[in-house]
Amino acid sequence: MTDVRPTVNGHHERTDSDDDRPSELLKTVDVKKHFPVEDGLFGRLFGDQQYAKAVDGVDLTVHKGETVGIVGESGCGKSTLGRTLTRLYEPTDGSILFDYTNIETYSGRRLKPIRRRMQYVFQDPLSALNPRKTVGESVAKPLAVHDIATGEEKWERVADLFEEVGLMESHLDAYPHELSGGQRQRVGLCRALVTEPDLIVFDEPVSALDVTLQAQILNLINRLQTRYDLSYVFISHDLNVVRHVCDRIAVMYAGEIVERGRTEDIFENPKHPYTRVLLRAIPSVDEGEHRGRESLEGSPPSVTDPPSGCRFHPRCPEFINGQCVSQQPFLQSVDGDDGHETACHWAERTTAERETHTTPRPSERRVIEREADPG
Ligand code: SF4
Repeated sequence: MTDVRPTVNGHHERTDSDDDRPSELLKTVDVKKHFPVEDGLFGRLFGDQQYAKAVDGVDLTVHKGETVGIVGESGCGKSTLGRTLTRLYEPTDGSILFDYTNIETYSGRRLKPIRRRMQYVFQDPLSALNPRKTVGESVAKPLAVHDIATGEEKWERVADLFEEVGLMESHLDAYPHELSGGQRQRVGLCRALVTEPDLIVFDEPVSALDVTLQAQILNLINRLQTRYDLSYVFISHDLNVVRHVCDRIAVMYAGEIVERGRTEDIFENPKHPYTRVLLRAIPSVDEGEHRGRESLEGSPPSVTDPPSGCRFHPRCPEFINGQCVSQQPFLQSVDGDDGHETACHWAERTTAERETHTTPRPSERRVIEREADPG
């Protein structure tokens, strides 16, 4: 069977006749991104370099044509993961396979054709657009960089794309600051689409927009996915948004994935206490009233010196005992379902068990923590 997809401007068709293999477009295995931390006096004296483990051993798979959401609080590592898997950042360790090719060590000329096929849309399109160039010039630039089109053909392609995303031809000559937030995000989409990618990573693409514009841009993103058979990674702190665009979701905490599964399973049967808190924190408008809002106490932990055992243990509202402090939980399937995994020692507890459990009081908890992790 031949898979024919339309291209951005209809100039050529891509085919994939190898339908027997699993349709994994992107796969990361134990990917890490650690940043060296500025040496303090102690570090300078003793040469003890410390690292912020922003992404610390992530396995993620994106199949062709699907949207995978990465959610979590700010600082959980989701943007760093997005930038690492598109090779905007060099991974510290682990494997990144794009279309079954190991690309984690690629650079320069070898990386260039991969860059064409993987695009990144930033939360603030202004940061990705040159303020001294018209937005038309910025969108056209990758066509020259990747030897895709020149001259009149180049401008025809850009104009077609502008029309496709709801911009007018007159916007080609505008400078970024002359456009509204929604228009700039449409320009960001054009810039991502112009190289005819297979994968687009969206980093909080609608969080700076009002609700009406959010809906318009999300509808556009959905329509473009179907039209061009695109795969998406969708990074967001907003679970309401993620729910409406993602097929699968990975929940990140302190550089690790703590739960992942199909969107409906994550929302209807969350298994990790952190996921449950995030879901309870979603503002739900019911008959004009906000209800069910709950915020998580405390701040995300330092990823330079993360908590022992389960990294969520200092903030976990369902904390059980010393095992939470001394043993790191790894992702395991839930109820025998390989499509739904969570990293909590106590994920199999029933709702009744959870509701009747009394979480240790703060003073008891401190004793448990000291005994389980004396260091
Ligand atoms: S392992 Fe313990 S601390 Fe971690 S999420 Fe599960 S119950 Fe909470």
